[in-house]
Amino acid sequence: MNNHLLNMRKAQIMAVLVAVSFLVVHIGLLLLFRHYEIIPMFHFNIGSVLFYILMFPVISKKWLRAFVFMVDFEVVAHMTAAVICVGWNSGFQISLIGISVLVFFAEYIGRTMQMLYTRSMLLSILGAVSYIGAYNYLSKHPAPYSLPAEIEFKLQIMWAVIVFLITISFLQIFVELTFRGEEFLAHRASMDELTGLHNRYYLMDHLKRIQKSEGLDNYYVAMIDIDDFKKINDGYGHNYGDYVLRTLAGILENNPCGAAPCRWGGEEFILIGKSGDKSPEKRYELLDELRSTVEKYDFSYNGQSIHATITIGAADYESGKSIEEWIHIADKKLYVGKYSGKNKIVWQ
Ligand code: GH3
Ligand code: MG
Ligand code: MG
Repeated sequence: MNNHLLNMRKAQIMAVLVAVSFLVVHIGLLLLFRHYEIIPMFHFNIGSVLFYILMFPVISKKWLRAFVFMVDFEVVAHMTAAVICVGWNSGFQISLIGISVLVFFAEYIGRTMQMLYTRSMLLSILGAVSYIGAYNYLSKHPAPYSLPAEIEFKLQIMWAVIVFLITISFLQIFVELTFRGEEFLAHRASMDELTGLHNRYYLMDHLKRIQKSEGLDNYYVAMIDIDDFKKINDGYGHNYGDYVLRTLAGILENNPCGAAPCRWGGEEFILIGKSGDKSPEKRYELLDELRSTVEKYDFSYNGQSIHATITIGAADYESGKSIEEWIHIADKKLYVGKYSGKNKIVWQ
């Protein structure tokens, strides 16, 4: 699936936002470690700041998989080293949870955009192993450096804010993208591209929904087939045939019966009508008005006047019949109409 809501530009913008935020955090940590003279981490941070500056050309070259992979490794290595250096209470390990959410999101983007993507499961397991490993290590070896309790408190709060912010916002975006993507696909799957009418899959679902809610007893279907459509295609070309189909779809949308049209396939359409309190004669009359509108319509081609006709097979719903059987009855009536001269309605 290629999600219409995502594109390379948006993915690059997200990557830049991540790189900028991580750069800012690392500059802050650089100053912190320098202030408290935690020299190994100060040096590590100089490397990290350079690393995030280098990520900008990587993003602009669209190497997003490499970006995700390298950032994940940087964060895991950095945060594990920091927690081992200054102790568990500094809370550096908390960031390993946030990075897991980010790499899963990156995998989703990579997959939906059909790019090479990172296996986030492996990266997250690496983060989890580092988290538990660091805890285990610290339980046996005290950290060589320590930060003042007040700084540890502030760091804990900062990590909590960052990780919750990442988790909440990215999961929300993820829910939104998934939902809108599904909605878009469901809409696409229910529409006929050429005519803009609903297609047969929608029609079947729609009829099933009516059957469940109010029952079909008050409904009829009218199956419509263009007469001698092959001749239209052969005489004026396939594109012109398409134009006739689109134009007919427009006429069906404004049908006098007030029925819902759909493209059943090829040059066949179905109307779903509600009988209401209209008599059978009245319903026939309205359907015949539609047939006559099509007959009179000028599908002109290069100034040449062209006419087309339709044959209609209609059937009221009969209790106990399945939807498929009901449509089959309408189809059989349509063929009766075809074999008895076309341009007519066969109903009762
Ligand atoms: P009949 O009066 O018995 O219905 O004769 P017909 O020529 O209409 O016969 P049939 O229903 O078998 O022909 C359907 C034709 O519709 C065949 C196919 O090439 C054409 N067709 C199906 N889908 C499309 C389409 O999307 N565009 C165009 N231009 N033609 C289509
Ligand atoms: Mg036909
Ligand atoms: Mg046909």
